[in-house]
Amino acid sequence: MDFDPTPEEVALRAEARAWLEANAEPYDATALETTRTYRAHTEEDDEAMLASAREWARTKAAARWAAPSWPEEYGGRALTPQLASVFGEEEATFDVIGRMFMVGTEMVGPTVIQWGTDEQRDRWLEPILNADDVWCQLFSEPGAGSDLAGLSTRAVRDGDEWVVNGQKVWTSAAHYANRGILLARTDVDVPKHKGITAIVVDMGQPGVEVRPIRQIDGAIHFNEVFLTDVRVPVANTLGPEGMGWPVALTMLGHERASIGGGGMYTFEQVVQLAQECGRVDDPVIRQRLVDLYEHFELLRFIGYRVKTALAKGEMPGGEASVMKLLVSELYERGGDLMVEILGAGGMLTHEDAPYGGRFTDLFMGQWAPRIGGGTDQVQRNVIGERVLGLPGDLRADKTLPFKDLPKS
Ligand SMILES: Cc1cc2nc3c(=O)[nH]c(=O)nc-3n(C[C@H](O)[C@H](O)[C@H](O)COP(=O)(O)OP(=O)(O)OC[C@H]3O[C@@H](n4cnc5c(N)ncnc54)[C@H](O)[C@@H]3O)c2cc1C
Repeated sequence: MDFDPTPEEVALRAEARAWLEANAEPYDATALETTRTYRAHTEEDDEAMLASAREWARTKAAARWAAPSWPEEYGGRALTPQLASVFGEEEATFDVIGRMFMVGTEMVGPTVIQWGTDEQRDRWLEPILNADDVWCQLFSEPGAGSDLAGLSTRAVRDGDEWVVNGQKVWTSAAHYANRGILLARTDVDVPKHKGITAIVVDMGQPGVEVRPIRQIDGAIHFNEVFLTDVRVPVANTLGPEGMGWPVALTMLGHERASIGGGGMYTFEQVVQLAQECGRVDDPVIRQRLVDLYEHFELLRFIGYRVKTALAKGEMPGGEASVMKLLVSELYERGGDLMVEILGAGGMLTHEDAPYGGRFTDLFMGQWAPRIGGGTDQVQRNVIGERVLGLPGDLRADKTLPFKDLPKS
């Protein structure tokens, strides 16, 4: 494991920091009002957050910081993933909404760069940088989440068009996105992983109906999306027909790699909360604070392992899976501890609650990283099978044609 930054990293960090200092205000990592909940409770809050995030995206795009790992010809800096993450680390120490459009910059962009045609790269990449195009990921369905390859939204070819019918759910950002990468079944006569195609859909077109889902914390983060006879040009197929599964794996790999960047709060803020609430002398709270500190440190050190692998040009496998699980556990422990510190006030929400409800929001928000991008349980299966070499689940559904699989 390498703790020392490379000379390139030192130089890039200095350049990024100087640019950020000239363009943004520093983030106070101890003040309680600056924990990042990003959970707007009203439509006006939502719009204000979106406008602020878009303005920041444009500022970054003008200086080529919006997607530093993309090739230079598409507005990036051709940085290695390791060096690109340096900018993210520095950005997290400034008071900006830096990750609102990460589906486009960190997931769709790299997937289009890998799988798209030249014409598609020219058409789709540049508007992502300025947040002129906002993307969403139309993968999960009511009957296909962890078992994503079991999806049943159909796309049937009609001349130069696909005709799409089906339903997606938990689609983050679909209520303000104008484009989506959709996974649809295009062949039911082959095993489930083989008959899927990735298709890019305009969210504003006829037949696409977006129904926002209001969450327990009052915010709207994701949506149901109903697709009825949606006509999409075949030219919008990303990757070859029937190769939607490898395209999806590319995108999900980038999603997992991006989860955990730019934390919602710091350890210092939780200590500050305990101090302000007069709980810092409570031995049980102190013990749990230490436990949380250990978790922050574990994440920091596993981060070094991931970086070391990337610096050597290797793909971090086991480290990345363990890191995703540790991020989940951090938000679980941190959220539980915050409401414990608040005492009875932890039962209230929004403006009725202490600190305007930002800590109860963080408590309720812990399930997002624990489920999104693959649940903790599925992540444990991955670690068991691919890292520890344990035998995999018995799977009877890998070889049969999709149409012959039992469905609920
Ligand atoms: C904040 C957030 C944002 C999201 N954004 C998007 C998005 O933009 N686009 C999108 O397409 N989806 C999105 N999702 C959906 C997400 O990918 C799914 O919720 C996730 O894959 C789990 O699927 P599911 O909800 O259908 O649960 P299920 O797969 O039905 O799982 C239910 C329970 O069973 C467990 N389980 C399932 N299979 C196994 C197994 N083999 N072994 C052990 N336990 C198992 C799970 O861990 C879970 O506890 C988002 C989810 C969240 C929370």
